[in-house]
Amino acid sequence: MVVTDLDGTLLDHYSYDFKPAMAVVGSLKRFGIPLVFNSSKTYAEMRYLQDQLGILDPMIGENGSAIYLPKARFYKAQSAWQDHGDYWRISLAKPREHWLQMLAEYPDQASILSFSYMGVQGVMNATGLGWAESERASQREYTEPLMPPGDPSKKESLVQYLSARGAVVQQGGRFMTVGDSVDKGRAMQALICLWQQAFQMPLRTLALGDGLNDIAMLQQADDAVWIRSPINPVPEGVRHMDWHITRGCGPAAWAVATGAWLGQYGPLLNSKSAKEHHG
Ligand SMILES: [Mg+2]
Repeated sequence: MVVTDLDGTLLDHYSYDFKPAMAVVGSLKRFGIPLVFNSSKTYAEMRYLQDQLGILDPMIGENGSAIYLPKARFYKAQSAWQDHGDYWRISLAKPREHWLQMLAEYPDQASILSFSYMGVQGVMNATGLGWAESERASQREYTEPLMPPGDPSKKESLVQYLSARGAVVQQGGRFMTVGDSVDKGRAMQALICLWQQAFQMPLRTLALGDGLNDIAMLQQADDAVWIRSPINPVPEGVRHMDWHITRGCGPAAWAVATGAWLGQYGPLLNSKSAKEHHG
């Protein structure tokens, strides 16, 4: 199983291009190796990308808030799984409505400029994304991005209010995101358990990421690849791990690293499936 971050990893940091990775994605498909997105993105954003790559594999969305399992591979749902189109959804976090309610009760409403308040048009204006992309980014199920108040003391008060009520506030480039205490690593661990329950087969995992929020995910993997970022240095902690650090950046580096991993483990898979095929 290959578990991957999206922005800056499978997708180019600047252009969101993934073409350099297409050939290796094709090889994963031929070997029947699931390519799992593990991203801060929404279900709608990830499904759109899956359609472009022609895959229907498990996904982890909104920074570890939920696992999505394709019904095509997981026939029998467990009782806690929720029906979600082509997928089953397993929630690991409180829903977005919980945080929206908390924001609605904040005394200084003028300080709050959230995605739900802005609407799709507002998200377009704030991000520079097109209409369809803004709409997919707005279809959030577990987390709420906010434009932080410009006044630092107002921002501080808002963060304190939210933290005191159990929210985790993550600072992004432009937005701060309010949500539950989750991480990509715990969600990946839960997905591996579900996969092994369902298929009763040994599993080898490769994880790839480029950001601090990917470290917990890389720690869960048998093989881990740190994709070099064009803007940030490799964190000191990452240098000391037994992880492969790529020379290049983005999808081209992703393709080299995943291709090498596949070269190592793919032939084993191939001979195994060939044997099964011939009984
Ligand atoms: Mg990233």
